[in-house]
Amino acid sequence: MNSGKNYKTLKSKKTKLGNVIELVASSHFTLHNSLIIGVFHGDEPQGKFLIEEYIKNNVTDSLSFIPCLNPDGMQLGQRTNANGVDLNRNFPTKNWELTKKNEFFGGKAPASEIETQFVIDIIQEYKPSLILTLHAPFKVVNYDGPAKSTAEKISEIIKYPVEASIGYPTPGSFGTFAGIERQIPTITLELDETCPVENLIKPVHKIFDLLL
Ligand SMILES: [Zn+2]
Repeated sequence: MNSGKNYKTLKSKKTKLGNVIELVASSHFTLHNSLIIGVFHGDEPQGKFLIEEYIKNNVTDSLSFIPCLNPDGMQLGQRTNANGVDLNRNFPTKNWELTKKNEFFGGKAPASEIETQFVIDIIQEYKPSLILTLHAPFKVVNYDGPAKSTAEKISEIIKYPVEASIGYPTPGSFGTFAGIERQIPTITLELDETCPVENLIKPVHKIFDLLL
């Protein structure tokens, strides 16, 4: 992506449909900073827009971004990636399981997908101290691992309630992989999809600033 001279692509990977997933950060980016991920689910495009707007207008050395983890799903207008896998069920957690092929299909094996492997590699290489993923449409601040106080601060900004669990089982989820099993504070921010995405710029960018 064209992200100006302050940011560069630290890592990238080509997807099945030939799209590119990128990790974007400042040239001075180091270990143990916050990682923000957009578009885990292709039908939740808000994250890409909000991250790209932030990158255009803000300079920081202490955040890294995957603006769009699931470009194939976004291109196809679907939750899953091009293989029909829900990336948020494909992580190699202790509770990963082979499930029915519906929109929550966790893949034929844990970490079977390029997109999942991309995130795992980044966590191993850059060891983020906190991870925020942007989803829709539930209007909650969900967290896994030691992220309660950060979740509460985010809740104050965006006025969605904090929830420690989303309320249904999520085997192979990213929150379980990063938050529960690796104890990296992990926030899943479920945005409102009924309002124009422009209305989310102010609160969401304030949340990004909180993670600096
Ligand atoms: Zn989602």
